[in-house]
Amino acid sequence: MNHNLYLQFYPHFERQPDKVLIDTPQGGQYRYADVLACSRRLASVLQSLGVTPGDRVVVQVDKSPQALMLYLAALQVGAAWLPLNTAYTEAEIEYFLTDAEPRVYICRPEDLVQAQALASRCGVAHVESLGVEGEGSLMERADAALEETRIAEVGRDDLASILYTSGTTGRSKGAMLTHGNLAANSQALVETWQFSDTDHLLHALPIFHTHGLFVACNVTLTVGASMTLLPRLDIEQLLDLMPRATVLMGVPTFYTRLLTSPRLDRERTANMRLFISGSAPLLADTHREFSERTGHAILERYGMTETNMNTSNPYDGERRPGTVGMALPGSEVRITDRDTGKPLPDGETGLVEVRGPNVFKGYWRMPEKTREEFRDDGFFITGDLGLIDDKGYLNIVGRDKDLVISGGYNVYPKEIEQWIDELPEVSESAVIGVQHPDLGEGVTAAVVLREGAQLDEDQVLAALKDKLARYKQPGRVFFIDALPRNVMGKVQKNVLRERYADTYQ
Ligand code: ATP
Ligand code: MG
Repeated sequence: MNHNLYLQFYPHFERQPDKVLIDTPQGGQYRYADVLACSRRLASVLQSLGVTPGDRVVVQVDKSPQALMLYLAALQVGAAWLPLNTAYTEAEIEYFLTDAEPRVYICRPEDLVQAQALASRCGVAHVESLGVEGEGSLMERADAALEETRIAEVGRDDLASILYTSGTTGRSKGAMLTHGNLAANSQALVETWQFSDTDHLLHALPIFHTHGLFVACNVTLTVGASMTLLPRLDIEQLLDLMPRATVLMGVPTFYTRLLTSPRLDRERTANMRLFISGSAPLLADTHREFSERTGHAILERYGMTETNMNTSNPYDGERRPGTVGMALPGSEVRITDRDTGKPLPDGETGLVEVRGPNVFKGYWRMPEKTREEFRDDGFFITGDLGLIDDKGYLNIVGRDKDLVISGGYNVYPKEIEQWIDELPEVSESAVIGVQHPDLGEGVTAAVVLREGAQLDEDQVLAALKDKLARYKQPGRVFFIDALPRNVMGKVQKNVLRERYADTYQ
């Protein structure tokens, strides 16, 4: 049996050729038939460049409908789709090309000369270019190509993609995702979020990350729905489009930014059935404020590059602010002791581990690392800390690497951040551990104030005094304009640790 993920999408291309699958704010419209024809020609181009099943296709291009058609073409020919963050520099790309040894590297037209030099240094046979309007050598080749209709025969465990992690805690790792992983996860999400072909998704996420690529696009394609592709987050554009859309998928920043617009209200969101958030923690306050303004309870879910999505708040039933819900159908979640690895009862904080058909088959060319992160019974150690609350909902407490160990005690940054965030002058905060001569690590807070608010270090410390045990109280509090974040809205605590490294020296 052929387990190609493409087959999960294909029936909709046959069934509804005239339906628009992708539109753009500039007025572009691509029907299912258009996407099918173009991706088939791109499949033929990939084959003519020598791409065979299992070969990597590295892509660093701007978001466009054509880039998604290329993704479909890669699936069709059985290649491993390897998208790169568009912000990566030449030196970073060199690492990925050397690591992945792709057959083809597709870059932005403006990067072509540099990309060719890089590719020849890294031994990559072919470089093609693709621009936001579809310009560049790749589509020129496609225009002259015949449509390839064969769909490569692949097994459930064959590679569909290598997706690099965000690099929040260190160097990005290549997660090997199979056709089976992606197919199972998008089916679980369709069921949980009740997606259907009447849905229209507002897509404003990057497509080099699991959220915008696999969650957003695979779910849309699995049910035969449609989407508007926005090049980037533009709050006014999102608000303009909301009356004709049904679903938005965003990172928490989308929601905090939407809340700054007076246009966000019940009427504007009346046609929407679902607002989804993930990739980073959504503040419970944001959740509540959004509910008050729109009547919609944001549905928060939790996932990662290596596992696709693991848990989700329920569609029907309580969406609990500050939690990420329950395991998706077919997946399991457990909490274990960080020292002994033994399962912990509900309510206790430990390592979040997951198992299921969604979990990747290992890190690309890192067998040691892969072995370290899997238990003998197949559970994957996510690297996140969490607990299951009294209602059975998973609460993510933070990353294991961000745990502060001060004077021998475990300090969970989130607990302190929550108290600091309660101060009316505070917009947000991040607590980190930095080297301390007596304590090992000193608890250190970086605080962002609300516009115009005044607060000093002593006032923050005084406010925490009765709230937290002494060992949890920050040694120092620093004020900064904004927390350092990557494109997915993740706070880069390593940047803060570096900035404040000498605090207690
Ligand atoms: P790296 O593994 O390279 O350090 P990364 O973990 O940020 O980077 P991703 O795979 O993009 O790379 O992100 C997954 C992580 O994002 C999760 O392990 C978790 O820490 C965080 N995350 C995702 N969704 C949520 C959520 N709803 N709440 C809290 N954290 C989340
Ligand atoms: Mg990670």
